[in-house]
Amino acid sequence: MNQYIETEKQFYMGTVRRQPVVIERGQGTRVWDTDGKEYLDFTAGWAVDCLGHSAPVMVEAISKQAATLIQTSNQFYTLPQLQLVEWLVKNSCLDKVFLCNSGAEANEGAIKLARKYGRDNRNGAVEIITAIDSFHGRTTGALAATGNAAYQANFLPLMTGFVHVPFGDIDAIKAATNEGTCAVMLEPVQGEAGVISPPDGYFKAVRQWCDEQGILLILDEIQTGVGRLGTMWGYEQFGIEPDVMTLAKAMGGGVPIGAFLCKDACDVLRPGDHGSTYGGNALTCAVSYAVLNHVKEEGLVEHGRLMGERLKGKLEEVKARHETTIKEVRGMGLLLAVEFHEPISGEVVTSCNAGGLLLNPVRPNAVRFMPPLNISESEVDIAVDRFERSLEDALQRIEKAK
Ligand SMILES: *Cc1c(COP(=O)(O)O)cnc(C)c1O
Repeated sequence: MNQYIETEKQFYMGTVRRQPVVIERGQGTRVWDTDGKEYLDFTAGWAVDCLGHSAPVMVEAISKQAATLIQTSNQFYTLPQLQLVEWLVKNSCLDKVFLCNSGAEANEGAIKLARKYGRDNRNGAVEIITAIDSFHGRTTGALAATGNAAYQANFLPLMTGFVHVPFGDIDAIKAATNEGTCAVMLEPVQGEAGVISPPDGYFKAVRQWCDEQGILLILDEIQTGVGRLGTMWGYEQFGIEPDVMTLAKAMGGGVPIGAFLCKDACDVLRPGDHGSTYGGNALTCAVSYAVLNHVKEEGLVEHGRLMGERLKGKLEEVKARHETTIKEVRGMGLLLAVEFHEPISGEVVTSCNAGGLLLNPVRPNAVRFMPPLNISESEVDIAVDRFERSLEDALQRIEKAK
């Protein structure tokens, strides 16, 4: 394993903090490293592998489409693309789709759409209100939208036109709105911030405010979309509909694809306004369609919701046994976090690696759980067992080091 870590250090830009695990293959919720050690993968490719690793339905869709047609340009029509956009519209509250390749790119498109909407309908308004501690991606526009100064500091000046307000505070959105505002952009649950759910009634109030003001509500569902919160789309949890929704991650189950969707009323982009060479490519579209169809037909949204309840319940039991260490278990569906009283998530994840459970240390004091939607009951139980043992192991190590 060490030789691989050395190779990375030599050839890869030093941009990522990696765990010392070299993953060689995966099957369902499990992965194996180059030493043959098995892990339960509760990072799932960053909430991407909604069907787990190397799902047969994906392998089949990839092979079949690869042998048929991989890439044309958007100068032409292709059947997989049409099938996918029809599925997305028929299975959401949105009316039109643009396909791209990643989450950041989906948000870039949504930002452009909102600016054009403001230009046409709000006297040239271009300002977008986003949340503090939000995460919208690493490209320069999405980075400006992201409410995290640490990610931005080395890359100033940022693109202008974003105002950041506290998440969950409707009055802050009202106070930040002016005639230059064209949209509000939010995550249904803030994932990278450490799995932060909004207070009751927040999204209803935001929706009402946007309607009154004639500004767009953009939901970044890149992490929450496709069953992650226990409903197909996160917005269903809050009884509202967005004007614009962005997707990526689980939408492709592991192939790189993203999308932004809008209502007919804000379908303002015209020929020449936007484009993408790979966006809506036949291969990724065929796979995304197969993944989404499988999630729906196999009832994986409901299954994921039930597994999320089971996981949360079991983590609550671990908390009850470790009240002095665990402060809170939070989140919805299969997007959960355990917060500690102390900043020990690095130590905990190191022990979990050894104990055969892959977790994300989302905050210095919190770890995130985001397993595949099709995880089994027994895998949930084994994972929680491994988590508790690893936590105890970490606590012992920390105690010894004192
Ligand atoms: C992951 C994520 C993004 C960025 O997606 P990339 O595919 O990494 O560009 C944007 N918004 C949210 C909410 C995300 O979780």
